Amino acid sequence: MRLSDITSKKFEDERKNIDIVVIPVGSLEAHGQHLPLGTDIFAPGLICDRIEKRMGDRAWIAPGISYGQSDSLSVYPGTITIPSEVMAEYVFYVGKSFYDQGVKKIILMNGHGGNVVALRLAAEKLSRIGAAAVVVNWWMDYLDDILTITKTRGHAGEDESSAMMYYNEDLVDMSTLFTNNHKSKYRVYFPNSGLVDLKHAITGDPTEASREKGEKIFDMLEEKMCELITFMENEEYLVNND
Ligand SMILES: [Zn+2]
Repeated sequence: MRLSDITSKKFEDERKNIDIVVIPVGSLEAHGQHLPLGTDIFAPGLICDRIEKRMGDRAWIAPGISYGQSDSLSVYPGTITIPSEVMAEYVFYVGKSFYDQGVKKIILMNGHGGNVVALRLAAEKLSRIGAAAVVVNWWMDYLDDILTITKTRGHAGEDESSAMMYYNEDLVDMSTLFTNNHKSKYRVYFPNSGLVDLKHAITGDPTEASREKGEKIFDMLEEKMCELITFMENEEYLVNND
């Protein structure tokens, strides 16, 4: 159920039945020259649309958090970045407020790599107050499944470009494609690292992206998210099957 669309009364009536919230998290960030700046919030938003259609009576869908930590790409026009420590606190307090409202299980549906540190910190803190929090990084957690659909992966690469072509082809400009196969030996944090590690704001090769592949990615993600919601509903994380 979409929280932004219902009244306080409706929330009060339903909260005894629904104790899971899905919060989409993304960024405003350069993605090559061919994908929109909102790519990383559009993908989680579409996954949430699919969850709403399939299981809207079993999970709250929260408004998204559309800004993230994009330090490395902040050298590229249009990228907005906030520090991980600020974001972690902000997301923690969003989650805590849900917890205080009786929603004890929190799914952070993340579309952006730079957010991972902040979201894991927030999830850790949420667990300390009694919540159950999980961070889903769709392009990473389901990579094996994605690579049955696309040949390669990358930031604005084949997988993410396919996802955006399916989301809205009008927002994608496939006339200007860069590729970047650079892989650093170590993850070194340094100023403007995106100029080296993410040259042209891209990793990988988007040339073989397609709308059809994007549809298959979202079909797969929908199934995975429905599984996760059932897992959280049944509190399977509390069970050790050994
Ligand atoms: Zn992205």
